[in-house]
Amino acid sequence: MKRYDYLIVGAGLYGAVMAHELTGKGKSCLVIDRRAHIAGNIYCEEVEGIQVHKYGAHIFHTSNKKIWDYVNQFAEFNHYINSPVAVYKDELYNLPFNMNTFSRMWNIRTPQEAKEMIAKQVKESGITEPKNLEEQALSLGGRDVYEKLIKGYTEKQWGRDCKELPAFIIKRLPFRFTYDNNYFNDRYQGIPIGGYTAIVGKLLEGSDVRTGTDYFEFRRENPEIAEKIIFTGMIDEYFEYKLGALEYRSVRFETEVLDTDNYQGNAVVNYTERDVPYTRIIEHKHFEFGTQPKTVISREYSSEWSVGMEPYYPVNDEKNNALFARYRELAAKEENVIFGGRLGNYKYYDMDKVIEAALEAAGEL
Ligand code: UDP
Repeated sequence: MKRYDYLIVGAGLYGAVMAHELTGKGKSCLVIDRRAHIAGNIYCEEVEGIQVHKYGAHIFHTSNKKIWDYVNQFAEFNHYINSPVAVYKDELYNLPFNMNTFSRMWNIRTPQEAKEMIAKQVKESGITEPKNLEEQALSLGGRDVYEKLIKGYTEKQWGRDCKELPAFIIKRLPFRFTYDNNYFNDRYQGIPIGGYTAIVGKLLEGSDVRTGTDYFEFRRENPEIAEKIIFTGMIDEYFEYKLGALEYRSVRFETEVLDTDNYQGNAVVNYTERDVPYTRIIEHKHFEFGTQPKTVISREYSSEWSVGMEPYYPVNDEKNNALFARYRELAAKEENVIFGGRLGNYKYYDMDKVIEAALEAAGEL
């Protein structure tokens, strides 16, 4: 078999950006992926003329103009702005936490009234320095917002008590005192017209690609295939879990085609109470203003990851971060192997951060 400069393990966003950058510098790359398709978790599949986000909804957003210009080379983006709706029992709220949410919750109108209500509830909670997600959420929005919109959703999504989760998870979400339902604070946002798979396809032009190829078997059979390896799989699996297994959350999707043109009127509806078993329902066509006669919806069920499942979210609590730090020490000693991406870096990365990290790593190479 041909020898390559780089073997890239994982045809997701990180691996594909690396492949594009390296082939652009005249390096030869072989990209392999265990799955039968490219694009990792941003893979989209067309169903009833609708781009279905098979591994969960991905909304591109960034404040980094360089990254925005970079992805725009590979696709045109539409003007989608993410504005999820939250359902709590028979109540319906706008997200993120903003004046629409607060006015609905407390029947108030002005930022002053909302701030006073929150300040009162924060004072009652007695928190001055938040040490975990629960305390962070209480000190940002008070008890009502926490109990109706955060506690149930977060505990379903992470399978852990909010007191045991790191505060940074909730800092991803804006709290604002304007009537603005844009879920993100970023300057640029949208969904690629034609779906994400096409972007990855373009990034991989110039590389050899083999899907349905498991790295660990492939390496046994082709130990001399490349000078260097870029590994974007699970870092603990790479080291055969020798320091113990890192924890991940997995997601199960129940996807249905419905014979209606509009099921829920929004791309993302979160179910924030504990008793509803799924966390959210995605109606994919609304990401692209679809006018198809039918619709496709996915209910998301969150669960702890175990061998044989797809890992989605690293659980970046203290225990797991400490274990990851030990794996990273091993990784640093692994000659000619670069670890990257959400799984290789055990990091709750957004897509723009993945691209940024890949561009930086490729630059160093
Ligand atoms: N979150 C919440 N209520 C919601 C939506 C999100 O409490 O209705 C919290 C929850 O802890 C979640 C975090 O905010 O894990 C981040 O949510 P995001 O929507 O950014 O997660 P992702 O889209 O990456 O799954």
